[in-house]
Amino acid sequence: MSSFARPLRLLLLGAPGSGKGTQTSKLLKKYSDVLAISSGDLLRQEIARKSTLGQLSSKYIAEGKLIPDEHITKLISNYLAAELTPTSSYLLDGFPRTINQGRTLHESLKQGPNLNLVVELDVDQNVILDRIEKRWVHTGSGRVYNLDYNPPKVPFTDDVTGEPLSKRVDDTREVFSKRLESYNAELGPLKDFYNDLGILETISGDSSDIIFPKLAKFIEDNYVS
Ligand code: ATP
Ligand code: MG
Repeated sequence: MSSFARPLRLLLLGAPGSGKGTQTSKLLKKYSDVLAISSGDLLRQEIARKSTLGQLSSKYIAEGKLIPDEHITKLISNYLAAELTPTSSYLLDGFPRTINQGRTLHESLKQGPNLNLVVELDVDQNVILDRIEKRWVHTGSGRVYNLDYNPPKVPFTDDVTGEPLSKRVDDTREVFSKRLESYNAELGPLKDFYNDLGILETISGDSSDIIFPKLAKFIEDNYVS
């Protein structure tokens, strides 16, 4: 288990199915003192709780559309305000994903623990649909399994809690193509924004096993030693 010489405040950008959740799990195994926040996981938990936000979100998610900025920004800002300290290391997955969200977060953290690294996971979009169709998730924790290369120990059962796994409603061929479209539309402006701040890195590779060592090395070189 390693720890940081300076806080790591990382946003993972990447197409749906590019492996943000998998990279997050791998990083958490290596660095336990990182707070991981996934907007999609938080929204799915809101839906499972049948909260007002959950009810509002479920239709957008099922159609592969983005939740309006003000709702998602409020959810994540409240979460960050409650959880972050000035020295926190954290990892964001799925938020910000529009330029508007990026600007709002940047303003709200300007005097505090603002992002200091944005990594784009650059994965061939032709290889990810196949993964999406074989993906099963544990809603409570956000743990992700793949029936081919990362299967649960007991079929369709979460390794840690023993609870059943489920399919995400938006992991269908049809909805996936909409999610991919909106990702591609938002990506350019968001990358420009973080590139101008001087904190954008891109890591390419078509599997998590190729990407993780590169990501881990970058973090090791810049945040640990
Ligand atoms: P992956 O398949 O790798 O998890 P994804 O980024 O498409 O990729 P989630 O991040 O889990 O999936 O998001 C699922 C859905 O939740 C999105 O399609 C969208 O409807 C909603 N959502 C999540 N984060 C945001 C956000 N920052 N802004 C707006 N909507 C969001
Ligand atoms: Mg995800």
